[in-house]
Amino acid sequence: MRQLQFDTYTGNIIEAKLDYWQDIEDIPILIRNFIHKKTTNYILRDEDNSKNYCPICAHEIDKYGFCQNCQKFCNIVDDTEFKIFDIDKIKQYAFFDTYYIFDVVNNEVILYVIDEYVYYDHPNLAIPYRIMETKIKHAYHVLNNKIIDLKGNVTYFYKDIDKQNKKDDEIYNYRIDNYLNNYDDGILYTDNLDLLKDTIYRYTNIWLAKDYLKNQHLFVSNLTYIPLHFSCFEYLIKDKFYSLAFDNPHLLKYDNNARILLDKNGEYFDFMLKNNFDFYQYKALQICKIKDMRIINFIVRYLRIVEQILEIKKIDIVKLYYYLKKQNVNIVEYRDYLNLARDLGYNLKEKNIIFPKNLMEEHNKLFEKKYIVFDKSYDKKIKEISSKLIKNKYEDNNYVIYPASSVKEMLDEGKNQNNCLRTYIKDYSNGKTEIYFMRKKSNLNKSFVTIEVKDNKLIQARLKNNLDPSDKIMKIINKWLMSLK
Ligand SMILES: [Zn+2]
Repeated sequence: MRQLQFDTYTGNIIEAKLDYWQDIEDIPILIRNFIHKKTTNYILRDEDNSKNYCPICAHEIDKYGFCQNCQKFCNIVDDTEFKIFDIDKIKQYAFFDTYYIFDVVNNEVILYVIDEYVYYDHPNLAIPYRIMETKIKHAYHVLNNKIIDLKGNVTYFYKDIDKQNKKDDEIYNYRIDNYLNNYDDGILYTDNLDLLKDTIYRYTNIWLAKDYLKNQHLFVSNLTYIPLHFSCFEYLIKDKFYSLAFDNPHLLKYDNNARILLDKNGEYFDFMLKNNFDFYQYKALQICKIKDMRIINFIVRYLRIVEQILEIKKIDIVKLYYYLKKQNVNIVEYRDYLNLARDLGYNLKEKNIIFPKNLMEEHNKLFEKKYIVFDKSYDKKIKEISSKLIKNKYEDNNYVIYPASSVKEMLDEGKNQNNCLRTYIKDYSNGKTEIYFMRKKSNLNKSFVTIEVKDNKLIQARLKNNLDPSDKIMKIINKWLMSLK
């Protein structure tokens, strides 16, 4: 709670406005130095000529990092950051680094986002020379349930961020930060994190992660919404699962498996800790409970493909890993093979179907088979069906509507309209659904609206790219549907 004060303008008692840094002079000198030192500690590198340049005056430096012009050494050490640029365009070259600084005022927490700009077009000099400029981009008042952007006067409630999250199953932090209108990752000043011990952060134990945070590129959400809004953050930090804590605790929250895997007495706890698991490795371990980082990282690399395979058939991933190694075939080919085998009605319980002796040979065989099946049996059935449905044909001065009459027609329509009509071929040929094309009489060869009808009711009518037709067109389609009875 902030101090109350009398507002002379309205005559009301209001909460005092939070005092925050307005311009760079307000930033403590220690912090300004930290920012300055970090951003100056790089070397310019032109990859076209493989040469390094002095970050101050843009003169070439020798292999020891010495600049003849400045008579100074640039420190080339192992973790020196290189900024890649083009020496011929140095005057147009600019970049900025983003920094996060916590500050506490009357027990209230403010998180600053500060940008350090660098460019080389000095207004008073003919030669390129560096100018640096510090700008306070955001000052967020951080609370338990919301973040207030003090400069922009915008409030972001965590519960609204939750809603954004639930829309997607696969969440990356930058989506949260898009919501916060903050698109750049930055580096945190960690020396003053102890300040947070007496604030709303007291239960987060975020200061325990000081050494980890020093080397991380972070978003605002990593430092506000995530630590304050998720109770598991505290436990993950205490257990030193830093990557899990800062990146995706919002996904762990809804995950019943988390309790089992992150149980201190659990079988996988030490294994996960030893290998500093991140969220995707954690997800891989859920899919395949094995203490082998080669297989865990294999699953991480092909996570979506593995998930697609498991949707078709619950396969032992360890077996699959060694099988693919022996076959020397990529897992993507395997997924396609499994898809084909399922579509063609093969028995996926048989071992020689799941793991054929020669995968690629079998893959190619099924591929050909599927398209022959499409051409012959499906085509025949579709011709029969369309000869019955032709009684539903519609025609006025401008438009016609008629049933799809061959596999080729459907494949073409799907391609032209950029929709998935090919997956309807089977259902249409079995009479489970009806597919019609609406065309303009002025251009009968061009796809216009693809229509699906079931029991004389409209399931969908779609323009190219699955867009909805106009009201005028929908009126015509609805009029036609009425006539079907
Ligand atoms: Zn120099």
